Amino acid sequence: MLNDTKIFKFGGGSVQNASGVRQLENIIRQHGDTPLVVIISAIGKTTNLLESIISVYRKNDAAELDTLLVRLQHNHYDIAQELLPNNPVLQKTLSDIFSQLDRQLTISSSNDYDYDYDRIVSFGELLSTTLISAYLNLNNLANEWLDARMLIRTDNSFREAHVDWKTTTPTIKNRIDSVVQEKNTKLFITQGFIGGTSDGQTATLGREGSDYTAAVFGFALQASEVVIWKDVPGLFNADPKIFPEAVKLEEIPYEEAIELSYYGASIIHPKTLKPLQNKQIPLYVKPFFNPEEAGSLISSSTLKNSVPSFIFKKNQILISIFPKDFSFIAVQNLSEIFHILSKHRLKINLMQNSALSFSICVDNVGERVDAALRELKQKYKIKYNDNVELATIRHYTEELLVGITQGKEVLIEQKNRTTVQVITT
Ligand code: ASP
Ligand code: MG
Repeated sequence: MLNDTKIFKFGGGSVQNASGVRQLENIIRQHGDTPLVVIISAIGKTTNLLESIISVYRKNDAAELDTLLVRLQHNHYDIAQELLPNNPVLQKTLSDIFSQLDRQLTISSSNDYDYDYDRIVSFGELLSTTLISAYLNLNNLANEWLDARMLIRTDNSFREAHVDWKTTTPTIKNRIDSVVQEKNTKLFITQGFIGGTSDGQTATLGREGSDYTAAVFGFALQASEVVIWKDVPGLFNADPKIFPEAVKLEEIPYEEAIELSYYGASIIHPKTLKPLQNKQIPLYVKPFFNPEEAGSLISSSTLKNSVPSFIFKKNQILISIFPKDFSFIAVQNLSEIFHILSKHRLKINLMQNSALSFSICVDNVGERVDAALRELKQKYKIKYNDNVELATIRHYTEELLVGITQGKEVLIEQKNRTTVQVITT
């Protein structure tokens, strides 16, 4: 049984300045008085800035580190100042977190880049949520700040940690229940993207992982709905920034939305939907600046009209793998190849095999691809095309396929009844 708790998730783009924070406040005020858990990402481009901070920290470049830290501070204090000028509580809230960050940056870096990354990048969400929670408390929206590192238990796969649902689900539920009972508070503010391991280390769920956090809370609390507030009116059949004629999808069945996010429609983090589907919790994607609009609804509806959807993934690399001894590709080869790909955490966007070769298309994510290629080259002959594009059309027609491949060289084309994928240069 779902209860009346709702989950709202706000991305960094929505809360990038003081007026964004005020709009978040408006939305929370309008929602009514049922329990509400608000998940917030790092403000604006903070996560990218923290990634730069991590890299100069690991290079021991003190001067550059200082410059970047000052920028990070400005971004946050400026918003605080605009929200509530010279407010000592708000400023102290921020300075406490900045001192914690300073402490992390005085520890010498470890051999494990991913571990260092998570313990530092997590400050983006710690800063945004403490700032917003304090601001709302000062503005008569009493709320409880929750530390997601204590609630979302993960394994040690830093930068892409897996949620331990068995521990996480009761932990979240018990914590929320006890605050509701003891303090009579129904509004909770917490961080997207971050969690904690059993030995108390900070771990993150992968870039853009805050949507997934919303699903974790929704699942644990059997929420009546999850709302992802976005700077777009809802989900579209193609990226409206590239295709002005894109149309909004009003109602999407879970399976269809899962397929779309699997193929790379970047609007919702791909891990988000499955836990919600398991509990039949509806997910709304709604426009942050027009909260009364319907947005898009993902639920257990059936697909009414199959509007074709287009997903384009640029910066792909197509790797073809041949046994060195000119033998056929055998199951042992495949198993070895998958093992190498999984070790370097590469996700296969498309694959194809023939008698003599096996081809895969993956995101060209620099270092990890290079490392996998080096390892593959020890056993196989490798050819690759970089800078290729992978296009997917769900509910395609031949005409649409011709439209997107016109004037391009097609390297691979794969079709099933609903979906076509093409790799082009
Ligand atoms: N702040 C994190 C990122 O930018 C998580 C998120 O925004 O969902 O990747
Ligand atoms: Mg973000």
